[in-house]
Amino acid sequence: MLYIKTNEEVELLRKSNLLVSKTLGEIAKHIRPGITTLSLDRIAETFILDNGAIPGFKGYNGFPKTLCASVNEEVVHGIPSDYVLKEGDIISIDCGVILNGYYGDSAYTFAVGEIDDNKKRLLQVTKESLEKGVQEAIAGNRVGDISFAVQSYAEEAGFSVVRELVGHGLGTKLHEAPEVPNYGRRGTGPKLEKGLVICIEPMINMGTKETIQMRDGWTVKTADGKPSAHFEYAVAIDNRKADVLSTFKYIEEVLNK
Ligand code: MG
Ligand code: MG
Repeated sequence: MLYIKTNEEVELLRKSNLLVSKTLGEIAKHIRPGITTLSLDRIAETFILDNGAIPGFKGYNGFPKTLCASVNEEVVHGIPSDYVLKEGDIISIDCGVILNGYYGDSAYTFAVGEIDDNKKRLLQVTKESLEKGVQEAIAGNRVGDISFAVQSYAEEAGFSVVRELVGHGLGTKLHEAPEVPNYGRRGTGPKLEKGLVICIEPMINMGTKETIQMRDGWTVKTADGKPSAHFEYAVAIDNRKADVLSTFKYIEEVLNK
């Protein structure tokens, strides 16, 4: 059962997702060698609370922190800790909020200082694979059209697509139907309707697509220890073009300084 949002609900989701985008922009100001992922988490939590929202992930199925902070071979769901970021790391920051009862959810993978060319390409391709998915997120298409667009773009670049974790519907719940896999066939899966709000979130690996679950019950890593990247937008389905509720502009303003 797909939950089609009213215009009013889409506007509430836009506010929630705007706050997530701004929070990621705040985080961007602080990512550098020498900072701990726990410090980033505190900055995010304070910013979210100061803006009248509550962290969306903290307490969700028992997750202990505000951000998911996944470094290098960590794919997603890394728990902020006393790990000190170092030059050459990449870090995926996934952030969720609840504002007026509606969730925001977006992710971005950052370079820490200077990173090598392979990692640069992984970040670039993963972000572009998200854009390819967004281009298919229009009414009348099917979820598989998004999945196919992401997968084919990432695999043609020589990377692999994580299977165990997928995008999702977004609303008053963090994870609503439908699932939005980052792999699949054109013309398959649920039909996209105007007013459906989904998160598209490619998780792309430099090496094998296989992942392993860590004993902390959360952190997912690549099976071969090679790096992984993650970019996520929330989008509202519309007739001609996806209405993207997230933006990376606050991040990019900081990074382009
Ligand atoms: Mg997310
Ligand atoms: Mg998500």
